[in-house]
Amino acid sequence: MHTIEKMIQNKAYELGYEKCGIIPISLMEGYAEKFKERIEKVPKSKMFYENQKRLLNPLAMYPWAKSVVVLAASYGKYKIPEVVKGHIAKSYLFDTRIDKNTREYQNNRALEKYMQELGLKVETNQKFGVVGMRWAALQAGIGIIRRNNFLYTESGSWVHLEAWITDREMELKETNEVPQCPKACNRCIASCPTKSLSAPYTMSPTECVSFLTTFGGRNLPQEPLSRTFGNCIYGCDICQDVCPMNKGKWKEEEEFPGLAELSSALTPENILNMEEEFYREKVQPKFFYLSAEELWKWKVDVLCYMRNSYNETYRPLIINACNNENYKIREMACSICRELYLQ
Ligand code: SF4
Ligand code: SF4
Repeated sequence: MHTIEKMIQNKAYELGYEKCGIIPISLMEGYAEKFKERIEKVPKSKMFYENQKRLLNPLAMYPWAKSVVVLAASYGKYKIPEVVKGHIAKSYLFDTRIDKNTREYQNNRALEKYMQELGLKVETNQKFGVVGMRWAALQAGIGIIRRNNFLYTESGSWVHLEAWITDREMELKETNEVPQCPKACNRCIASCPTKSLSAPYTMSPTECVSFLTTFGGRNLPQEPLSRTFGNCIYGCDICQDVCPMNKGKWKEEEEFPGLAELSSALTPENILNMEEEFYREKVQPKFFYLSAEELWKWKVDVLCYMRNSYNETYRPLIINACNNENYKIREMACSICRELYLQ
């Protein structure tokens, strides 16, 4: 006869999760200390972390919480369409949080139902997490956190984390055999284009390309760091791609639902010419960090990329964007025209 913890873990494995651990809610207490430490190390990150304060004390929101079930699902198995490789961060391409067509989304729902059928009261937040996920995963033995701040399992950092709080006292640590970072390695830090990752476990989120090209991208034309974005259009994987501990971990074995069909619309040229209706129907529901009204941010991201990796085929597109009805697109396009003497 299995314990309830073991039944949940077995169900998770059966569904295809790579890891599943369960910790008492008290183990989340150390997260608040880490959080404070992060802000002290990089004081300018304070505003950014304000939004995450809700994760500091899960008991304030869920006084009935007794344990946390935390899981890792690997996504490093999906084929990456050539046209988006290096331009759109992989965690966004293979985001399974709200995409009902994915097996991972369905597994999330199935596991929740299973726990409820076992008589547990559970709560999750599929989009933004119900607890500090990496901390919970570390405590549960799912993997380790590396100097680039990502949680790694044996599949590297290409894992999505999921968590539920429950109303039952439970504990079942997961096991992992993930080695620590090699002593002298600092490739992730040395490769960070904006120096957002400035030291081990130390980053300034508001200077990260992933922030500046997605939900934080409000003023790219005036953002000096935008010149360092290189090939990145939406998000950045550089500190993960260069990591030797990710070497050989991406397998490209399976098609991700709908991505091959959508990818032709996601070339730089096609994003710049994208119609609002197409964006709202096909693109925004997948890349939900930008709202239905924020196609302009994608277009500014693309113009930024076209400036950083300029070739002559971009000239008419950039010149044309100078007449765009959106002020920010015009501003970016015109500044590129002036800088590169395009007209
Ligand atoms: S995601 Fe990119 S910009 Fe952000 S810390 Fe990593 S390398 Fe730096
Ligand atoms: S690049 Fe090196 S230091 Fe950075 S996370 Fe990977 S192994 Fe650790």
